[in-house]
Amino acid sequence: MQNPSKKYDCIIIGSGLGGLTCGATLAKEGKKVLVLEQHNLIGGCATCFKRKGMLIDAGLHELDWGNKDTDMKHLIFKRLGLDKKIKLIPLPTAWSIRESKDKNKQITIPHKTTKEALISLFPDEKDGIEKYFKKLKFQARLNYKFPFDMGFLEFFFAPLHTLGFLTISAIRKRKVGDMLDKLIKNPKLKKILNINMVYYHNNPYKFNWNYHAIGQTNYYNQGMYIKGGSQKLSDSLAEIITENNGEVKINADVSQILLNENKTKAIGVIYKDKKSGETYTLYADKIVANCDPRIVYNQLLDKPILDKDSKLTKNFTTDTSLLSVYMVFDTNLSEKFPDMDYSTFFVDSKWFNGQFNQQTENLLNIPIEDRSFVFVNYSKIDHGLTQKDDRFFGVITTLSSYDEWDHLTEEEYKKKKADLKESFERKLESYYPNIMSYCIHSELATPKTIERYTRAIKGTIYGYDQDTEGFFGRGRFYSKNIKNLYFASAFGFPGGGFTGAILSGYRTARKMLDPYFYAKRLSLCVLFGTALGIGITEIVKLIGN
Ligand SMILES: Cc1cc2nc3c(=O)[nH]c(=O)nc-3n(C[C@H](O)[C@H](O)[C@H](O)COP(=O)(O)OP(=O)(O)OC[C@H]3O[C@@H](n4cnc5c(N)ncnc54)[C@H](O)[C@@H]3O)c2cc1C
Repeated sequence: MQNPSKKYDCIIIGSGLGGLTCGATLAKEGKKVLVLEQHNLIGGCATCFKRKGMLIDAGLHELDWGNKDTDMKHLIFKRLGLDKKIKLIPLPTAWSIRESKDKNKQITIPHKTTKEALISLFPDEKDGIEKYFKKLKFQARLNYKFPFDMGFLEFFFAPLHTLGFLTISAIRKRKVGDMLDKLIKNPKLKKILNINMVYYHNNPYKFNWNYHAIGQTNYYNQGMYIKGGSQKLSDSLAEIITENNGEVKINADVSQILLNENKTKAIGVIYKDKKSGETYTLYADKIVANCDPRIVYNQLLDKPILDKDSKLTKNFTTDTSLLSVYMVFDTNLSEKFPDMDYSTFFVDSKWFNGQFNQQTENLLNIPIEDRSFVFVNYSKIDHGLTQKDDRFFGVITTLSSYDEWDHLTEEEYKKKKADLKESFERKLESYYPNIMSYCIHSELATPKTIERYTRAIKGTIYGYDQDTEGFFGRGRFYSKNIKNLYFASAFGFPGGGFTGAILSGYRTARKMLDPYFYAKRLSLCVLFGTALGIGITEIVKLIGN
C-alpha cells in the first residue's frame, strides 16, 4: 500500500457523465478531486473506441437540446465552461419513421414545427395534439432550474410557479401510456409520439410522464451530436477537472470504500491499478459513487450497513438496456441513399398499424428480432469521428434486456448474437438495397457487453427503470447510513441518458458544496415573508384609515 496520507476533498468512483460532471463542478469551486475509473477509457457509456481507422461512438445517438427555458444543460455547460470546449452539431431532423419499403411513405419528424407536422398528418387529432404539446411543455418547464440556481425572489415564489406543480405531479405518478390514452385517440399517432421509447424505457405504461416530457420537449426543439463523439464530452469534463487541480485516473479499480471505526462515515477507498497490479489506499473528506449504487451496497461496503438505503430501491427494476450493431462503411451512405435521415426508426407494419395498449407496447413482449429498431447514419453530419475520407459510421439499435442474454452457454450466446446481427442487417438491406456491400466491419453489443465495460449490473444504461418520479422514485444523492458518501449517476435524480446523468452529477456537487442551502434560504424566506406580511397589513390598515 502506498500514499496512505494523500488527502483529497473528494474521490469519485467511476468516470461516467454523472461522476465527471460532479467532479468538474466541485473542481471548479476549488475542491481537490480525484476520479478513479476501472476501464482504460474514461466516460462509461459516453466513450468511443477505435475500429477500422475510425472512432465508434459507444453511447451517443442524439443529445436532447432544449431551449434555455426548459433545459438546464445551457446553465451547467456555461458554468463549467463546457460550452467553450465542445461543439454541438445540430441534427437535420428529430428522426424519421419507415414502416414500408416505399420511401415516399417515410414520416419525418421535424424540429420546432413538430406539432404542426403532426397536425397536418392527423388533422382529426388537432385538439389532442395541441393539448399533448401544451402539457408536455408545461411539465418540461417545471424542471427548468434546480432551486439552488434560482435567485431569491424566484426561489421565494417557487411553490407557486414550479414546486407546487412538481409535487402534485410526483403524487399523481402519471405514466406516458396513460397520458397518451387520455389525450390522443389514434393508436398510430400514439406510437409516433412514443417512437423513441427505447431512449428511456421498455414500457410506456410504466415510464413516468415527467421524464418523457423533459426529454421529448428537448428532442423536438433540437437534437444535437457532439463533434468528436461522446468521448469528446467525457474528455472535456475530465480536462475541466485536471485544469482545476484535480486528477482522473484510468485502470483504477476501486475494491472497497473505507469507513471510520464506528462504520458511520466514509473516509477513503482502496483501489488497484490494473496495469501495475499495485494496490493503493487513499483518503478523502467525501466519496461519490458514480458506479451502479448496487455495486456500493453489495461489493464496496459491508452489506448490512446499508440496510436503510437499499430498502428504498429494492423493488426497483433494471430491465432497460440496448442492443447495438456498430457498423463501419467505406462509402458515404448519405450520397448513396440521399433519402436516408440521420436517425430512422424502422417499424414492423403489423405493430405500427395495430392497437396501442399495455400488451402491444410492452417491448419486452415482442421477440427481439421483431422489434422496431433505429438506424443512425452519422455520415449525415460533420461528426468528427474520423480523419479518413472513406470511413463512415452507422449503428443499428433496439431495446434488449439482460435477461434475454443470461443463462446461455458461451456457444448459445455467440450464436444468438450472430443470428440477430444477420437478421437486423438483412432488414436494413431490405430498405436500402446493397447497403451491406459497403459495410467493412460490424459487431453486435448486448447488455452483457455493456455490463462488462461499465460494470452496471444487468448492463443497465438509464439506471433504475424510470417508473416513478423524481425525489420519491430514484436513489437519493447521499447515503442515509454512511456520512460523506454520495451518489451521482443515471441511477439518481432525475434519471438516465446524457441529460439525466449530467444533471444528477451537477445536483450532487451543488448539494455537497452548500449542504445548508435550504436551511439558509428557507430562513431568509420566513424573514422576508414575515416582513412582507407585516408591510402589507400596515398598508391595508393605512388605506382603511
Ligand atoms: C449503446 C448506448 C446508446 C446510448 N445512446 C444515448 C443517446 O443517444 N442519448 C442519451 O442521452 N443517452 C444515451 N445513452 C445513455 C447514456 O449514455 C447513459 O445513461 C449515461 O452516459 C450514464 O452515465 P452514468 O454517469 O450513470 O455512468 P456510466 O456511464 O454507467 O459510468 C459508470 C462508470 O463507473 C465505472 N466503475 C464501475 N465500477 C467501478 C469501480 N469499482 N471502480 C472504478 N470505476 C468503476 C465504470 O467503468 C463506468 O465508467 C446510451 C447508452 C448506450 C450504452
